[in-house]
Amino acid sequence: MKALPADESLTGEIIRHDFSGFCPDTRIRLIREVLEEATGDSLGNSRIIIGVGRGVKTPALVERIRRWAAQIGAVVAGSRAAVEAGLIEAHKQVGQTGHTIAPDLYVAIGISGQIQHTAAITGAKKIIAINPDCNAPIFHVADYGWVTTTEEALSQLTGEAI
Ligand SMILES: Cc1cc2nc3c(=O)[nH]c(=O)nc-3n(C[C@H](O)[C@H](O)[C@H](O)COP(=O)(O)OP(=O)(O)OC[C@H]3O[C@@H](n4cnc5c(N)ncnc54)[C@H](O)[C@@H]3O)c2cc1C
Repeated sequence: MKALPADESLTGEIIRHDFSGFCPDTRIRLIREVLEEATGDSLGNSRIIIGVGRGVKTPALVERIRRWAAQIGAVVAGSRAAVEAGLIEAHKQVGQTGHTIAPDLYVAIGISGQIQHTAAITGAKKIIAINPDCNAPIFHVADYGWVTTTEEALSQLTGEAI
Protein backbone atom coordinates (compact mmCIF):
# COMPACT_ATOMS: atom_id res chain seq x y z
CA MET A 1 0.00 0.00 0.00
CA LYS A 2 1.22 3.51 -0.70
CA ALA A 3 1.37 5.65 2.46
CA LEU A 4 -0.89 8.72 2.48
CA PRO A 5 0.73 12.08 3.21
CA ALA A 6 0.77 12.77 6.94
CA ASP A 7 -2.22 14.83 8.13
CA GLU A 8 -1.03 16.91 11.09
CA SER A 9 -4.58 18.05 11.88
CA LEU A 10 -5.66 14.55 12.96
CA THR A 11 -5.71 13.79 16.67
CA GLY A 12 -6.45 10.65 18.65
CA GLU A 13 -6.65 9.12 22.07
CA ILE A 14 -4.60 6.08 23.11
CA ILE A 15 -6.76 3.61 25.06
CA ARG A 16 -4.77 0.93 26.89
CA HIS A 17 -6.46 -2.43 27.54
CA ASP A 18 -5.43 -4.98 30.11
CA PHE A 19 -5.15 -8.48 28.56
CA SER A 20 -3.48 -10.13 31.56
CA GLY A 21 -6.52 -12.36 32.18
CA PHE A 22 -6.93 -13.21 28.50
CA CYS A 23 -7.52 -16.90 27.87
CA PRO A 24 -7.33 -18.09 24.25
CA ASP A 25 -9.86 -20.61 22.97
CA THR A 26 -8.96 -23.98 24.50
CA ARG A 27 -9.83 -25.75 21.24
CA ILE A 28 -6.71 -24.20 19.67
CA ARG A 29 -3.48 -26.09 20.29
CA LEU A 30 -0.01 -25.02 19.18
CA ILE A 31 1.42 -28.18 17.64
CA ARG A 32 4.78 -26.79 16.54
CA GLU A 33 6.44 -23.62 15.38
CA VAL A 34 8.25 -23.65 12.05
CA LEU A 35 10.59 -20.85 11.08
CA GLU A 36 10.40 -20.24 7.38
CA GLU A 37 13.67 -19.31 5.71
CA ALA A 38 13.16 -15.93 4.09
CA THR A 39 15.46 -14.60 1.39
CA GLY A 40 16.57 -10.97 1.37
CA ASP A 41 14.65 -9.85 -1.69
CA SER A 42 11.47 -8.14 -0.62
CA LEU A 43 8.31 -7.79 -2.69
CA GLY A 44 7.79 -4.32 -1.22
CA ASN A 45 10.99 -2.92 -2.73
CA SER A 46 11.02 -4.74 -6.05
CA ARG A 47 10.44 -2.77 -9.23
CA ILE A 48 9.86 -5.91 -11.29
CA ILE A 49 7.95 -8.90 -9.93
CA ILE A 50 7.31 -12.11 -11.81
CA GLY A 51 4.23 -13.98 -10.61
CA VAL A 52 4.26 -17.73 -11.05
CA GLY A 53 0.92 -19.54 -11.24
CA ARG A 54 -0.17 -23.15 -11.19
CA GLY A 55 0.11 -23.11 -14.99
CA VAL A 56 3.90 -23.07 -14.68
CA LYS A 57 3.49 -26.65 -13.49
CA THR A 58 7.05 -27.84 -12.66
CA PRO A 59 9.87 -26.79 -10.30
CA ALA A 60 12.23 -27.02 -13.30
CA LEU A 61 10.28 -24.30 -15.11
CA VAL A 62 10.16 -22.18 -11.94
CA GLU A 63 13.95 -22.52 -11.77
CA ARG A 64 14.18 -21.28 -15.37
CA ILE A 65 11.98 -18.31 -14.42
CA ARG A 66 14.22 -17.59 -11.39
CA ARG A 67 17.30 -17.52 -13.65
CA TRP A 68 15.59 -15.15 -16.08
CA ALA A 69 14.39 -13.02 -13.15
CA ALA A 70 17.96 -12.73 -11.85
CA GLN A 71 19.09 -11.50 -15.28
CA ILE A 72 16.50 -8.70 -15.37
CA GLY A 73 16.67 -7.79 -11.64
CA ALA A 74 13.23 -9.15 -10.81
CA VAL A 75 11.87 -10.98 -7.77
CA VAL A 76 9.78 -14.13 -8.19
CA ALA A 77 6.44 -14.40 -6.36
CA GLY A 78 3.34 -16.48 -6.99
CA SER A 79 -0.32 -17.24 -6.68
CA ARG A 80 -1.79 -19.22 -3.80
CA ALA A 81 -2.23 -22.20 -6.10
CA ALA A 82 1.49 -22.05 -6.91
CA VAL A 83 2.29 -21.90 -3.18
CA GLU A 84 0.01 -24.86 -2.48
CA ALA A 85 1.64 -26.79 -5.33
CA GLY A 86 5.02 -26.23 -3.65
CA LEU A 87 6.34 -24.13 -6.53
CA ILE A 88 6.71 -20.87 -4.59
CA GLU A 89 7.54 -20.06 -0.94
CA ALA A 90 4.52 -19.08 1.17
CA HIS A 91 6.03 -15.70 2.10
CA LYS A 92 6.06 -14.79 -1.60
CA GLN A 93 2.33 -15.28 -2.10
CA VAL A 94 0.54 -12.40 -3.80
CA GLY A 95 -3.16 -11.84 -3.23
CA GLN A 96 -5.92 -11.38 -0.73
CA THR A 97 -4.27 -13.68 1.81
CA GLY A 98 -0.74 -12.75 0.74
CA HIS A 99 1.02 -9.56 -0.29
CA THR A 100 -0.42 -6.57 -2.06
CA ILE A 101 2.15 -5.31 -4.53
CA ALA A 102 2.78 -2.15 -6.53
CA PRO A 103 5.88 -2.69 -8.70
CA ASP A 104 6.64 -0.88 -11.96
CA LEU A 105 6.12 -4.16 -13.81
CA TYR A 106 4.29 -7.36 -12.90
CA VAL A 107 4.64 -10.35 -15.23
CA ALA A 108 1.99 -13.00 -14.48
CA ILE A 109 2.94 -16.39 -15.91
CA GLY A 110 0.42 -19.25 -15.79
CA ILE A 111 -1.94 -17.29 -13.53
CA SER A 112 -5.66 -17.45 -14.36
CA GLY A 113 -6.51 -14.10 -12.72
CA GLN A 114 -9.04 -14.87 -10.00
CA ILE A 115 -10.17 -11.82 -8.02
CA GLN A 116 -8.31 -12.97 -4.88
CA HIS A 117 -5.10 -12.60 -6.89
CA THR A 118 -5.84 -9.61 -9.11
CA ALA A 119 -7.13 -7.43 -6.27
CA ALA A 120 -3.56 -7.32 -4.98
CA ILE A 121 -1.79 -6.45 -8.26
CA THR A 122 -3.73 -3.47 -9.60
CA GLY A 123 -1.19 -1.10 -8.04
CA ALA A 124 1.39 -2.32 -10.58
CA LYS A 125 2.18 0.32 -13.19
CA LYS A 126 2.20 -2.24 -16.00
CA ILE A 127 0.99 -5.84 -16.07
CA ILE A 128 2.00 -8.42 -18.65
CA ALA A 129 0.10 -11.72 -18.67
CA ILE A 130 1.37 -14.94 -20.24
CA ASN A 131 -1.25 -17.68 -20.51
CA PRO A 132 -2.25 -20.10 -23.32
CA ASP A 133 -5.96 -19.57 -22.56
CA CYS A 134 -7.04 -16.38 -24.32
CA ASN A 135 -10.19 -16.30 -22.16
CA ALA A 136 -8.27 -16.29 -18.87
CA PRO A 137 -9.52 -13.38 -16.68
CA ILE A 138 -5.95 -12.17 -16.10
CA PHE A 139 -6.13 -10.60 -19.55
CA HIS A 140 -8.86 -8.22 -18.30
CA VAL A 141 -6.39 -6.57 -15.91
CA ALA A 142 -3.26 -6.92 -18.06
CA ASP A 143 -1.85 -4.04 -20.09
CA TYR A 144 -0.20 -6.54 -22.44
CA GLY A 145 -1.18 -10.15 -23.02
CA TRP A 146 0.80 -12.98 -24.58
CA VAL A 147 -1.32 -16.02 -25.41
CA THR A 148 1.26 -18.75 -25.14
CA THR A 149 2.65 -21.39 -22.80
CA THR A 150 5.33 -20.86 -20.16
CA GLU A 151 7.67 -23.09 -22.13
CA GLU A 152 7.29 -21.11 -25.38
CA ALA A 153 7.51 -17.74 -23.62
CA LEU A 154 10.68 -18.74 -21.75
CA SER A 155 12.43 -20.06 -24.81
CA GLN A 156 11.72 -16.78 -26.62
CA LEU A 157 12.63 -14.57 -23.65
CA THR A 158 15.87 -16.36 -22.79
CA GLY A 159 16.83 -17.74 -26.20
CA GLU A 160 17.26 -21.19 -24.62
CA ALA A 161 15.30 -24.16 -25.91
CA ILE A 162 13.16 -25.96 -23.29
C1 LIG B 1 -10.57 -16.77 0.80
C2 LIG B 1 -9.63 -16.99 -0.37
C3 LIG B 1 -8.42 -16.34 -0.38
C4 LIG B 1 -7.55 -16.50 -1.45
N1 LIG B 1 -6.35 -15.82 -1.45
C5 LIG B 1 -5.56 -15.92 -2.54
C6 LIG B 1 -4.34 -15.17 -2.61
O1 LIG B 1 -3.93 -14.47 -1.68
N2 LIG B 1 -3.62 -15.26 -3.74
C7 LIG B 1 -3.99 -16.03 -4.81
O2 LIG B 1 -3.28 -16.05 -5.81
N3 LIG B 1 -5.12 -16.76 -4.75
C8 LIG B 1 -5.90 -16.74 -3.64
N4 LIG B 1 -7.02 -17.50 -3.59
C9 LIG B 1 -7.21 -18.55 -4.63
C10 LIG B 1 -7.78 -18.00 -5.93
O3 LIG B 1 -9.19 -18.01 -5.89
C11 LIG B 1 -7.33 -18.90 -7.11
O4 LIG B 1 -7.68 -20.24 -6.86
C12 LIG B 1 -5.82 -18.83 -7.37
O5 LIG B 1 -5.41 -17.49 -7.47
C13 LIG B 1 -5.53 -19.58 -8.67
O6 LIG B 1 -4.16 -19.59 -8.87
P1 LIG B 1 -3.56 -19.77 -10.32
O7 LIG B 1 -4.09 -18.69 -11.22
O8 LIG B 1 -2.09 -19.92 -10.19
O9 LIG B 1 -4.12 -21.22 -10.76
P2 LIG B 1 -5.26 -21.64 -11.75
O10 LIG B 1 -6.52 -20.90 -11.49
O11 LIG B 1 -5.30 -23.12 -11.73
O12 LIG B 1 -4.75 -21.14 -13.18
C14 LIG B 1 -3.70 -21.73 -13.87
C15 LIG B 1 -3.60 -21.03 -15.22
O13 LIG B 1 -2.48 -21.58 -15.92
C16 LIG B 1 -2.80 -21.61 -17.29
N5 LIG B 1 -1.94 -22.59 -17.94
C17 LIG B 1 -2.20 -23.90 -18.25
N6 LIG B 1 -1.15 -24.44 -18.89
C18 LIG B 1 -0.20 -23.48 -18.98
C19 LIG B 1 1.11 -23.42 -19.53
N7 LIG B 1 1.68 -24.48 -20.11
N8 LIG B 1 1.79 -22.25 -19.43
C20 LIG B 1 1.23 -21.16 -18.84
N9 LIG B 1 -0.01 -21.15 -18.31
C21 LIG B 1 -0.71 -22.30 -18.38
C22 LIG B 1 -4.26 -21.97 -17.34
O14 LIG B 1 -4.81 -21.52 -18.58
C23 LIG B 1 -4.82 -21.21 -16.13
O15 LIG B 1 -5.33 -19.95 -16.52
C24 LIG B 1 -7.89 -17.35 -2.52
C25 LIG B 1 -9.13 -18.00 -2.51
C26 LIG B 1 -9.98 -17.83 -1.44
C27 LIG B 1 -11.31 -18.55 -1.46
